[in-house]
Order: sequence, then structure tokens, then C-alpha cells
Amino acid sequence: MSAVPPLPLATPLEEAPRQLALDAYAILDTAPEQAYDDIVRLAATLCETPAAAISLIDRERQWFKARIGIEDAQTPRSEAVCDRAIRNPHELLVVEDFRAQAGIPAPPLRIGGRPVRFYAGMPLLSPEGHALGTVCVMDVRSRRLSAGQREGLGVLARQTGHLLELRRYALEQRRLLAEREAFARRLEASREDLQRRHDQLQHSATHDALTGLLNRTALSQLHEDPGVAERLARRPYTLMLLDIDHFKQVNDRYGHLLGDRALRAVADAVAASVRHGDFAARYGGEEFLILLPDTRLDDAAQVAERIRGHIAQAALPFPLTVSIGLAMGEPGRDWSEQVFVRADQALYRAKAAGRNRVVADDTPWHHG
Ligand code: GH3
Ligand code: MG
Ligand code: MG
Repeated sequence: MSAVPPLPLATPLEEAPRQLALDAYAILDTAPEQAYDDIVRLAATLCETPAAAISLIDRERQWFKARIGIEDAQTPRSEAVCDRAIRNPHELLVVEDFRAQAGIPAPPLRIGGRPVRFYAGMPLLSPEGHALGTVCVMDVRSRRLSAGQREGLGVLARQTGHLLELRRYALEQRRLLAEREAFARRLEASREDLQRRHDQLQHSATHDALTGLLNRTALSQLHEDPGVAERLARRPYTLMLLDIDHFKQVNDRYGHLLGDRALRAVADAVAASVRHGDFAARYGGEEFLILLPDTRLDDAAQVAERIRGHIAQAALPFPLTVSIGLAMGEPGRDWSEQVFVRADQALYRAKAAGRNRVVADDTPWHHG
């Protein structure tokens, strides 16, 4: 090895992407790993030196991912011979004897307490050609490397490059996986949000805002629901129409706010009296329709009386009563206009008979 030529300083323009390339491996200050330790052991054995290292050139320091024969885990970059080595990224830098080498001071490292006299470092390249550091060997004696040893250091530097690439690949995969999972979570969250909004819309489109009961839209949908039609076609059902008594007077005497409270009280009484599978709707302003599938008139009349009972006990500052008309639909028939008409007639009779009562339609269906 002849005299080392003076080395140009890296310009900031080259240094910035080089640092970026190094940072991409996220390897600085990580724990020792067997694979890197094996490489420095192999380098030391190959070159018959007491010390070897994988040095990475960080902004202000060199940091050893693996080392053998030296104590320090890092040194200032300004004192790192490896920083000189990477200025010629494709060449092995050999300093056979620092005492005889002008221009390059010996590194501040100690090998078994003694100063470094010999150094050989092969730059470690990223696939894009950035010199990240070196695989280097050091000795306390002056020495020469054989051609095989020089070539071997090149092989080990390339192998170290592969290890670093594997690491970057694994990191990238982990990042992509995390990104994909985050994306999937966001997708699921927005799907749930959409579903929630849809449910809310669906609910507000089919429910009466004041009472929470079904509205007229829901009633007409019910009419077309094959599941409901099938239930009504199988078993007798009862249709109940409820109208608040003298509600106009409630409004006139107590105002619309209390009128609304009365409407809610009636709705609550209805909701508390029907069973799961029944349908309760606010059909007109102060008129309610309750469809009781699989329910005969007698049982429906009991439900109607329960509703009246609840309303009688409602916490209102005035007495409130309702009139209820019932009509039964026979199996094999749809929920027809006829049943509705008969329930309405029963309701009319309840009103005519003095209100605050339940009247069941007594017309047999087949005569209706
Ligand atoms: P009846 O005992 O014969 O039923 O007497 P009524 O006063 O209740 O008469 P009707 O059933 O015809 O009810 C119509 C009145 O109900 C008109 C209006 O004052 C009141 N009303 C109807 N819809 C609403 C509503 O949505 N809110 C309020 N506050 N009042 C309503
Ligand atoms: Mg009415
Ligand atoms: Mg009324």
C-alpha cells in the first residue's frame, strides 16, 4: 500500500441523502445481533487481526453495530478512519501503519490497551450506492493484507449490505402491514359509521319524532312486508285504532306543549302494553294504530284495557282518556282495508257511546 491520496470532504449535498439512506435502516443504537457479530468474527479470523468492526457513519459519530477487540461502542466522526474510507465507496482503504501514514491520524481506539497501527476498511454500500459505513479490521501491529484477505473483506461488506437490506425490507413490510391494518380499521370504522347513519336515517324516516312510535311511512312499508303479510295470513290478528278523547279541549285549555306531553303519555302507555312483534304507530295527529298479529279479539281487548289503565295513571296535570276500536282479521286474508274500516267503525261507536272505552267490532269477517 502506497501513500494515501488526500481525501476530499463530502459535500452536504451528498451527505444528506447518505444520511437518509442510513436512517432508513433504523439500525443505529440497536442491540447486538448474532448475524453482524458473526461477520466481524469472520473478518478478524480472515485477516488474522485482533480487532474488527461494522462501523456506521452517523452525522457526528461512527457507531459500531458489531465489534470485536475494541471497547468503545462509538467514536466522534471527526476521528473515524472509516469516514475516510467511505469517501472512496468502491475501494478498500488500507493503512498499513499509522505511524508511517501522513495525513490520517490513528483512531482513538485501543486494542487490549494498545493504540491502533493497522487499519483496513471496506465501504458498506446501500443498493443506491450510498456508503453507510465499513466492515473494518484493525491491529496493534503494522501489516499487509493478502489479495484473498482484501477480496474477503469485500465479500463481507457485501454480505453486511444484504443483512441491512433484509432489515430494511422487514421494517418496510412491518410498516406496510401496520398501514394496511390501520387502513382496514379506518374502513371498518367508516363502514360502521355509515351503517349507524343509515340506521338513524332509517329510524327517523319510519318513526314519529314526538312519540317514538312508527309513523305512517312505516305503516305503508309494513303493508308490503312479506314477513308481516305471512304472519297475518297464518293466524288471526287484531287491528286496534285509538283516538284521544276531547283532545281539542286539551290543546285549547292547556296549550300545545301539554298536548304533546299527553301524546307522549299515550304512546308510552301503548308501548308498555303491547308485546314484542306487535306494531304500534302514530297514525294521525292524536290517533294511534296498533297491529297485534296472532291475537284474537278477547286478548286484544285486554291489551286495550291495559292501555286505558296506563293512561289513567299517566302523570299529567289533567285527566286524559282514550277511545279504542278493535277489529279482527281472519287467517288467509291480508291486512285489508275492510279490517281497518271495521276497527274505525268500532272506534266511532266507542266515541258515540260516551268515549273512554274499548269497543270490539262484532261483525264476522266473512260478512264484512
Ligand atoms: P274526540 O273525543 O271526538 O276525539 O275529540 P277530539 O277533540 O279529540 O277530536 P278529534 O279526535 O277530531 O281530534 C282533533 C284535534 O286533535 C284537533 C287538534 O286540536 C288535536 N290534534 C290533532 N293532532 C294533533 C297534534 O299532532 N298535536 C296536538 N297538540 N294536537 C293535535
Ligand atoms: Mg282524532
Ligand atoms: Mg280525538
